[in-house]
Amino acid sequence: MSSLARATHARIDLDALRHNYRRIRALAPASRVLAMVKADAYGHGLLPVAHALSGLADALGVACVPEALALRAAGVGGRIVVMQGFKNADELAAVCAHALDVVIHAPEQLDCLASCRCGPPEGVAVWLKIDTGMHRIGFAPETVAEAVRRLGAMAAVNPRLRYLTHFACADDPASTMTARQIECFDATTRGFAGERSLCNSAALLTRPDAHADWVRPGIALYGASPIAGRPAAGIGLHPVMTLTAPLIAIHHHRAGETIGYGGTFTCPRPMRVGVVAIGYGDGYPRHAASGTPVSIGDRPGAIAGRVSMDMLAIDLGDADCRPGDPVTLWGDGVAADVVATHAQTISYELFCAAGPKAHRKYLSLCGIKK
Ligand SMILES: *Cc1c(COP(=O)(O)O)cnc(C)c1O
Repeated sequence: MSSLARATHARIDLDALRHNYRRIRALAPASRVLAMVKADAYGHGLLPVAHALSGLADALGVACVPEALALRAAGVGGRIVVMQGFKNADELAAVCAHALDVVIHAPEQLDCLASCRCGPPEGVAVWLKIDTGMHRIGFAPETVAEAVRRLGAMAAVNPRLRYLTHFACADDPASTMTARQIECFDATTRGFAGERSLCNSAALLTRPDAHADWVRPGIALYGASPIAGRPAAGIGLHPVMTLTAPLIAIHHHRAGETIGYGGTFTCPRPMRVGVVAIGYGDGYPRHAASGTPVSIGDRPGAIAGRVSMDMLAIDLGDADCRPGDPVTLWGDGVAADVVATHAQTISYELFCAAGPKAHRKYLSLCGIKK
């Protein structure tokens, strides 16, 4: 850790991660699991998470080739799927050399594969991405048959193609979009042999009819809820990351005094206010409004006033505490989803922003690992 390291700690509970994995398995018993570990495992740490899932997950999903190479360099074997595929011939050479699976979503990638001379003996394992309405990446339905024909004629490509699509609105069970996307995917892939994959965490919970051959959970693995208004605990998921920072000061304020930049919070009564050594420079969301929950020991507290760069103030309520005591920003006792709602964002962004900046400690059955 550098000497500039901040006092923010992220405790990463690898047993909770494995618990969530098993919970997902039980929810989609007929499917294989492609566990998403992109973006530094949603801020939880790529390598420790990958090692904790090895022997459990059927495959790991990363965004780009460099992430996959980091896994291989750390000795992670097994199937790794690169969700954006390769960007150029050099990355394709690395895909071949390290036996990575690739998602193919654009015609330029087909051209690159067509001139590939380095394929592994069994051919590059290709997952063909179909854009059924998300309109981010993927082949438009009317272009899929031609892409399949081209791939089938390439010596460097494994003839067992797989097919996938991604939902735009699965976090909103009331949306009709998911049903339309499933229909489009079914119609587009009808008649093609090969495994299929549609579901992210939200669809895994709400669309058992679309589980197909592979499910692709991300956020549920990390113990947050993928569905607005549906608490993670009710789904049987356990938080993996618990983010804490120490109290560095305690003050007593009179009723009517204001706290922090802009003076946006006025003490409604005489109040004991704590200052915590974490702010938006550490990845805590600046938009977390007054009232956002925290916990001090097992007592509830709440943000008071605007979040600063490296400090924030909290109403200590009746918590018995002194400077140096840890305050939990999210995790055990404070659901990240609730914090995210108060900050008008999603748990994904909280984890990705704060996890990599914190001093991460890994906890498992064997105790604290580092
Ligand atoms: C990130 C990602 C997922 C996982 O999404 P969650 O909402 O975190 O479950 C699944 N599929 C694709 C293509 C992704 O990019």
